[in-house]
Amino acid sequence: MKLSHRITHLTGGGSDGWDVFYRARRMIAAGEQVTELTIGEHDIRTTPVILEAMNAAAMGGHTGYAMVPGTDALRDTVAERLTARTGAATTRDNIMITPGGQSALFAAHHAVCDEGSTALYLDPYYATYPGTLRGVGAQPKAVPTRSRDAFLPQEDVLDAAAKGATSLLINSPNNPTGVVYPRETLEMIARVCQRHDLWLISDEVYDTQIWEGEHVSPRALPGMAERTLVVGSMSKSHAMTGSRCGWVAGPQEAVQSLITLATHTTYGVPGFVQDAAEFALNQGPGLEEEVAAPFRRRRALAQTILSRQDLIRQIPSQGAMYLMLDIRGTGLSGEDFANQLLDRHRIAVMPGESFGKAAAGHVRVAMTIGDDAFAAALQQLSDFASTFADG
Ligand code: PMP
Repeated sequence: MKLSHRITHLTGGGSDGWDVFYRARRMIAAGEQVTELTIGEHDIRTTPVILEAMNAAAMGGHTGYAMVPGTDALRDTVAERLTARTGAATTRDNIMITPGGQSALFAAHHAVCDEGSTALYLDPYYATYPGTLRGVGAQPKAVPTRSRDAFLPQEDVLDAAAKGATSLLINSPNNPTGVVYPRETLEMIARVCQRHDLWLISDEVYDTQIWEGEHVSPRALPGMAERTLVVGSMSKSHAMTGSRCGWVAGPQEAVQSLITLATHTTYGVPGFVQDAAEFALNQGPGLEEEVAAPFRRRRALAQTILSRQDLIRQIPSQGAMYLMLDIRGTGLSGEDFANQLLDRHRIAVMPGESFGKAAAGHVRVAMTIGDDAFAAALQQLSDFASTFADG
């Protein structure tokens, strides 16, 4: 039987630079020792106090169908948090709880794009973006950014791409680059969105992982609340990746439509997970800082190690759990560099090519293993690069 075009064409096809990743996984399955710096997941698990809250909620009976938009208590907690952290006035009616940020991205685009609508996203990008946009029937259109601009979008390029488009998806702090968009960049993005009447989908799942600068939510900028849908998640801030709990924040009318969508798709998020999320958010910033601290430390370690050489150029790492390294000085492509590093040193990193065209000649390093092992791997990576000094 034939499957739909929509599902069979969800991904663009081809390896898209993911060969190294799958090769590393096969090596591990075959019993080889591989240092994996590939995937954006903490090396710690959800803290026991959150799990205790989850258990208590489940044992207390919150195991039936939960409210489809989310529990009132969690929606209120998220609304208060966004108001306090971003300055954008937010109430329960502006929030819908989703099974993680990934489904929030899908739902947000489903709410604003029609079949064939042009949905913009910035290259380099989090690997699932184009598939998510295709999944709602939109036409994904990558807007290039440049390494020498720290992969920040430029107004002329964005403006030209925006003609006739419906939405723009941005992500700060950014995966894969680790860059935090400065206020001026977000103000420029806001101008372009208003000029071309675009919806802005702002993926802010790394908003608690800021090493330099400040997190500015574009929803708080003048004139943006009515055209912005913010994607948030418990995954990165509280090491709750497996709990699948996130949200969309936006105008009330859009949130109403998202609730209708959820009624016909996910039917909400488990009540005991929502109670645990509410508990976690109400623990305040201490817990979030604890979850973020290892990445902050490893980023400092990386800066020390990389400061001793000048072949690898580091894209400013201001947030999130990744380093983007410009390895063009070696004369290798990101894919060749990553493949050879895996073969010679059993260290797996992601080629920049896995995240689009703009990050070719770069590799992304996830700071997701213990400090000592991380520092040792980065030193080996740096030494490996130096063997190509005349490249
Ligand atoms: N956005 C970005 C940029 C991500 O890196 C991820 C996860 N790696 C997500 C969204 C989705 O996360 P989740 O579904 O776990 O909330």
